[in-house]
Amino acid sequence: MVVQPPWRMPHAFERVSVDVPITRTPFVFTYGLTVTELWRASSLAEQRLRDRVGLPWIIDLHNEITRAAGSMAFRRSMTSLGIGKPGEPSSVRTSPPVTERVLDQAVLDELAGDASARVRKFAISELGLVMSDLDELRQGGRPSAALLPLVREFENYYGRGAHLVPTIDRLTRSKRSWGLQCETLLQRLAAELLFLYTERPAVKRCVLCDAIFITREKRANCFWTLWDGATDHELQRCAPPEVFDNWGRDETALAHRRTRKLLTERIRQEKKRAGGNDNHPRVIKAREARDDYMEANGRRRGRAQRVTASRIQVVPENGSALR
Ligand SMILES: [Zn+2]
Repeated sequence: MVVQPPWRMPHAFERVSVDVPITRTPFVFTYGLTVTELWRASSLAEQRLRDRVGLPWIIDLHNEITRAAGSMAFRRSMTSLGIGKPGEPSSVRTSPPVTERVLDQAVLDELAGDASARVRKFAISELGLVMSDLDELRQGGRPSAALLPLVREFENYYGRGAHLVPTIDRLTRSKRSWGLQCETLLQRLAAELLFLYTERPAVKRCVLCDAIFITREKRANCFWTLWDGATDHELQRCAPPEVFDNWGRDETALAHRRTRKLLTERIRQEKKRAGGNDNHPRVIKAREARDDYMEANGRRRGRAQRVTASRIQVVPENGSALR
């Protein structure tokens, strides 16, 4: 039985914005790690977190870890939006009430204040070591094996309730694949961590948005994309289109400078080997190689041709491979 890692399972939510009627907000889905996004966010109201994890999940997480106090206001506002449970479309969507339901700015203000501090405190006390471990991972680094017992403990306590459901592997289109369906963000965090610390995959950092992601593909950017649940249309990617373009241009220019320096250095070394003889055949050959290269690539301004064999590239199309 093939079990998908949690970050390969769809994560769905109402993309709620202040003053936009819930009947006109898209019900969206995405993929990727939520645990590292939650940790990097400086506030629960941050737009990036609301896009990648989703407000209903965030509010539900806050309410769950602070059941005793401070959660009634959020519960009321989610109920008024018709959101009973995160991950499911609002009931208001199917039977719109007479008055339009919108998110109040006050809810975001409250989230950015004490609520953020409460969730932060919880994350530090329960997962501080694990989160710093992940946060410090560089390109290709692996989660530390020593933290598995801690992660197991967290998963034992908070991970209960998630259940395996059949899912379509978007890569192979095989239906004989399974994945965890989570009802709370805590379950999803626990599942992501358990996979990360049991499998210990080499992680990558997205060169465009700095998110931690996992893939066996040779790519420099993450898969993060937000899709409209109703139409399957891509709504947003991890960076604006111009950032994708600029990265490609910078990389090409850098590769060009590297090649030029390499070819010039080769002439210098051949000359040294030939005892300073400028007319030695090998020196002439090295000089010709550089001249040929410069003839083809060096004199153009702006975008140069790609000059190195496949380095890891930014993949411009969306993460369709994952869907
Ligand atoms: Zn990214």
